[in-house]
Amino acid sequence: MSSSPVYRRVLVKLSGEALMGELEYGIASPVIGDVAAELKAVVDSGSEVAVVIGGGNIFRGEGLARGGIQRVTADQMGMLATVMNALALQDALEKIDCQTRVMSAIRINQVCEDYIRRRAVRHLEKGRIVILAAGTGNPFFTTDSAAALRAIEIDAELMLKATKVDGIYSADPMQDPNAHRIPRLTYDEVLDRRLGVMDQTAIVLCRDHRMPLRVYDMTQPGALAGIVAGDEDIGTHVL
Ligand code: UDP
Repeated sequence: MSSSPVYRRVLVKLSGEALMGELEYGIASPVIGDVAAELKAVVDSGSEVAVVIGGGNIFRGEGLARGGIQRVTADQMGMLATVMNALALQDALEKIDCQTRVMSAIRINQVCEDYIRRRAVRHLEKGRIVILAAGTGNPFFTTDSAAALRAIEIDAELMLKATKVDGIYSADPMQDPNAHRIPRLTYDEVLDRRLGVMDQTAIVLCRDHRMPLRVYDMTQPGALAGIVAGDEDIGTHVL
């Protein structure tokens, strides 16, 4: 592992599903342990790491609303689900001696800190992994958009979107045997081709604020640390 990472500060977007492993719901403890170890390798290399975590393994506002719950309430439940995931990730990181802070966009400060940008940056400077929970704090958004927003706000040099495939493909690789990985795309190509890697609001935010994005396979050991150390061949670049 390189002692001087190429990226000084990064933001990693983990979906709630990333914590589920083979389960149909909730959190798989071996999986969250692996995720924590991957994040630790990056801070140990000297880079500052913020994480935005989703909640789809527990609740998604859209799904709850389809089931009859009022949409704003449903989204609030989704945001609270991300707080639970953040606490689980904090626990997994602390078990491997990583200093972390959970900061929430909705006030729930007996459980974790409120998100305050300057304070988040200070934690990062001290080498703590900052886990950003509750998305943007507003209904009708996703944690992809929250990740883009926070990456821009905290002045990250790279946003990493963790997925279960090693980048963006020309078609769904699970369904189309001819699908191939595309190494490099522009934001507009992702939007025009509706490649669906993140929601459009998130891509537009990254585009308009020139936040480089890398889509990578979180199940590949060392991929995250490799990218932060400067390996250009991992995943798909969106620039
Ligand atoms: N959510 C929200 N505002 C936000 C971010 C998230 O209302 O800024 C809610 C929304 O209901 C969403 C849920 O939280 O469905 C979980 O987030 P997301 O679906 O982005 O999680 P992921 O797919 O990454 O696991």
